[in-house]
Amino acid sequence: MFQTDDTIAAISTAAGSAARAIVRLSGPRAVELASWAFSPRWGRLEDIAAFRSVDGLAAIPSAGIELPGRAYVFRAPRSYTRQDVVELHIPGAAAAARALLSALIEAGARQASPGEFTARAFFSGRIDLSAAEAVADIIDAADDAQRRSAVAALGGRIEKLCRRAAEELAEVLATTEASIDLADEDIHLDSPGALAGRLAAVATSLQETAQHAADLADQRHLPHVVLCGRPNVGKSSLLNALSGADRAIVSALAGTTRDVLSATVNLGTGCHGCVAVLQDAAGFAQSLEGPLEAAAHAAARSAVAAADALLFVVDVAAGTIEADLALLDEVRRANRRCPLLVLANKIDLAGTQACPTVEKLHSRTAVAPIATSAVTGQGLAQVRQSLAEALNLSAARAGEALGLHDRQKRCLLAAAEAAMRACQLLTGPPGFAPVKRGCAPAKPGGAGVADVAELVAIELRAALAELGRITGQIATEDILARIFARFCVGK
Ligand code: GDP
Repeated sequence: MFQTDDTIAAISTAAGSAARAIVRLSGPRAVELASWAFSPRWGRLEDIAAFRSVDGLAAIPSAGIELPGRAYVFRAPRSYTRQDVVELHIPGAAAAARALLSALIEAGARQASPGEFTARAFFSGRIDLSAAEAVADIIDAADDAQRRSAVAALGGRIEKLCRRAAEELAEVLATTEASIDLADEDIHLDSPGALAGRLAAVATSLQETAQHAADLADQRHLPHVVLCGRPNVGKSSLLNALSGADRAIVSALAGTTRDVLSATVNLGTGCHGCVAVLQDAAGFAQSLEGPLEAAAHAAARSAVAAADALLFVVDVAAGTIEADLALLDEVRRANRRCPLLVLANKIDLAGTQACPTVEKLHSRTAVAPIATSAVTGQGLAQVRQSLAEALNLSAARAGEALGLHDRQKRCLLAAAEAAMRACQLLTGPPGFAPVKRGCAPAKPGGAGVADVAELVAIELRAALAELGRITGQIATEDILARIFARFCVGK
């Protein structure tokens, strides 16, 4: 259904006028074909070995002109599709973008069909199916609330939840199957009661998730936390360190939104679900030299203005903080109403020498700074806790933050029902005590499980298949076609 070994190209910005237009390529010839249409100011695109952006000129052959632009080269496998990806950014005239695309197609690229870039990300194992659906949701999002919910899904919450449940079911399945194979051995296996207890817990948690998750369309806002500070103070390192396992999303989203990178971050200590969206407003401190910089600055400004909390980052190893304080004034002018946390970052480099700087920061901002290190992790637990307090998050409220599609809810409920049937087989109807065929139970556990093992295994495999349908481990052509058909061309 999806060919993935050729090179595709498409305009990936929305139709109409905008600050910029983006033409995106993915595939083995992406860099070679892009270099037909784009000449970097220095060097050659082909010589770029990792992720880099270069300024240059994009050729618009039909108009006989060249436009200033920037090429972003993402070398495989560190790209959205895990193939070579090139994005050509030019000033946002739709006709110019179309002409640039035609030139690339003439050079040998194939026009991408809807969702094809994300389909490649899925088939290469870059994202799971729930994340692919979330990308479609981000693109489709009618408002900011829906976008934030989709971002949380892209952060992998659904995938993690299914994986945890699947691991537990797989362990019970393994014990069940062992009870068949090892029925005559003197090996201690968990009792039917213990296995049933584990299954009941998984089933209840899946049911509760499906029942309490909001429909994506009704999704409430996830809180929105924005990192700001001067270049090089450690904003993106903190974004990665705080989002932990969600690190990949930074580059996943980079394929979708260049200007403000986002990741989900779990602020809860025990509860799963105190989730916020963390954004890196790097463009806020950017110069306004060109149209691209101006657009990045505007995007960062609106992220700061819409923030529910701000994390202002200062490099305390740098010695001076005057420029940071000037930037903080500007940030506060853009958003005065939300809580502010000040992070004294790179404390691992500064050590005790940082004390005067931290004190000065405290007296000038009237906020007690939190000493952090994105490298050693120092202070990050306190940042999470202070953020949760500042945002007044509770597990109950955050639990509502997970949005699910009907299809995903149905799969969760079907998995829960199958796990519950397996549980009932193990406990038996009231008064029923399963025993091994032909003899009295020799030991607590193995004998009873063996008696119903085959039926239990069938139910557990069914439950695992339902969970696999959510994450894409079991994705029928039909489900895949329907999901990727929701995308527009260029995503
Ligand atoms: P940004 O421009 O604010 O996003 O800064 P980056 O996150 O790109 O960090 C700039 C440099 O500082 C990188 O080389 C990071 O590895 C380094 N860095 C960031 N945070 C820390 C930290 O807490 N300790 C140390 N030692 N280095 C850090």
